[in-house]
Amino acid sequence: MSKKTVLITGATRGIGKAILEAFNKDYLIIGTGTSEESLSSITENLKSLKIEGKAFKLDLNDRQSIKALSLSLDKEEIYPDILINNAGITRDNIMLRMQEDEWDDVINIHLNGQYLLIKSFLKKMVKNRWGRIINISSTSAALGNKGQANYAAAKAGIEAMSRSLARELGSRNINVNCVAPGFIETDMTKEISKGNEDFFASQIPLGRLGKSSEIAEVVHFLASDQANYITGQTLHVNGGLYM
Ligand code: NAP
Repeated sequence: MSKKTVLITGATRGIGKAILEAFNKDYLIIGTGTSEESLSSITENLKSLKIEGKAFKLDLNDRQSIKALSLSLDKEEIYPDILINNAGITRDNIMLRMQEDEWDDVINIHLNGQYLLIKSFLKKMVKNRWGRIINISSTSAALGNKGQANYAAAKAGIEAMSRSLARELGSRNINVNCVAPGFIETDMTKEISKGNEDFFASQIPLGRLGKSSEIAEVVHFLASDQANYITGQTLHVNGGLYM
């Protein structure tokens, strides 16, 4: 049986890097990063793990870059069977101070970018009558964190979009799910948690922040045959922060 191809956006660090590491040699891995330095770090990681794969540049805030990725993959006849929309940013601000670019960047990178990326690869999945789309959401979508109206709106949009897609694509054997992490130790949360780790941990029933690998394992499960009957769901992985 030929290897399944997995595309992971934002595979350079944090949760995306852990997702890349959760997949093994049975898969061909395509990881994306935003700079040459990012691509080198993905390539190095794949090499050290002895996983077959390749790094490609992608800026989800730039439609041309999304098109270019799709064309490059087409050229190399690489067609993702499993698409993991992980890349993301935060640009937090309370609504009274939120700038238009803070709103636009977050909506573009998460929601619009994912729409375009999914569109790029869907035709082939439909033709193959097999596919997995796994979108990384956030507890913020359900909790509505202060200062994250842009981010919460984008993530809630992703969850809603995923449910619609699950209904549209179920008959084609394409499962669409979300994983919604809670507070995970990565670059994204470094600044917020600095010096306040104990406070944040005290808000979480399991008493600690999460590890990237704990999200990656759930993503890996959703991509596996063990999850064949799961679609349209958002799996919350948050130590009980939201229940
Ligand atoms: P991170 O450590 O900050 O990594 C972000 C990743 O996204 C990097 O690989 C980065 O690539 C890529 N990226 C940034 N801007 C991009 C753009 N414009 N186009 C394409 N890729 C871009 O973040 P993380 O904490 O691992 O978060 C991963 C996902 O989990 C995000 O969707 C985030 O919203 C979600 N999440 C995280 C937490 C948490 O507590 N950490 C909680 C809930 C949800 P470069 O390295 O090239 O910059």
